[in-house]
Amino acid sequence: MKVASRESRAASGQTSCLRCGSPAISGSGSESARPFRRAKRGFCTPCAVCSFFQDENENHGIGFALPADFDPQGLLLPHIQQQFARVLEVGNSELTMEEIDWDQVIEKWGAVSVASPEPFAKLTTRLKARDSGLMTQD
Ligand SMILES: [Zn+2]
Repeated sequence: MKVASRESRAASGQTSCLRCGSPAISGSGSESARPFRRAKRGFCTPCAVCSFFQDENENHGIGFALPADFDPQGLLLPHIQQQFARVLEVGNSELTMEEIDWDQVIEKWGAVSVASPEPFAKLTTRLKARDSGLMTQD
């Protein structure tokens, strides 16, 4: 399923990102999409990408593999983006590289959740227990 398909847009609604509060479009996604699928609630595209790189739960992200002082500018390196593109491809992700604004990812890297004062890793784990995931950025 393509993220920007007319079918997914038609079944979507206006909402906001649970992490940064930015306007976002909710939708319904494929259960087989990993690591990113459309959902009724969750994160905008930049926050979803941040959550992948920051979440220390190895079932949800790779935060455990990054150094504590990781500089998000490193996300702009071509070999990092090539590997991330491969993750999207093998995971049948509903997020495409074309819709990621890496400058916004870096800008929102340190965003504090508007939904909860919980530490980010706890918030993402709790959200993933519900029907939540990626939302299209407005
Ligand atoms: Zn967001």
